[in-house]
Amino acid sequence: MNKKDWQKISDAEWEAICDNCGKCCLMTLEDEDTGDIYHTNILCRYYDLEKRICTVYDKRCEMVPNCLKLTPDNVDKLPFMPKTCAYRKLFDTNYKEQPLKPIKDRVVRETEVTFAELEDHVVDWEDL
Ligand code: SF4
Ligand code: SF4
Repeated sequence: MNKKDWQKISDAEWEAICDNCGKCCLMTLEDEDTGDIYHTNILCRYYDLEKRICTVYDKRCEMVPNCLKLTPDNVDKLPFMPKTCAYRKLFDTNYKEQPLKPIKDRVVRETEVTFAELEDHVVDWEDL
């Protein structure tokens, strides 16, 4: 599907593409000098690991200023999005299907991490 076609799908169809893996709700760090992105195992306080949903979805961008609403226009311009994100299938010709391993048991809550500890939580998520 090309971008023009994405514009035609309904909001419900767009939302249904998401597999609720929660990987985009993990904090990422960016090196100010190089622009390099580092993924962490720090999970947003509002993600419910049992139900695999955002508990503040309708007002997520107000509650969490860094939380972006994904759209057909921006989804291919966000370098920090997980490589396995279902939306990547729409535009990434190198996308590789792989089994989705739940993030549960591999994360810590942002409320448990201090600013000074952020870098200690940078992880190499092979399946991110
Ligand atoms: S506010 Fe919701 S959608 Fe945004 S990062 Fe947190 S859990 Fe994810
Ligand atoms: S990474 Fe992609 S598929 Fe997973 S929850 Fe976020 S938007 Fe949905």
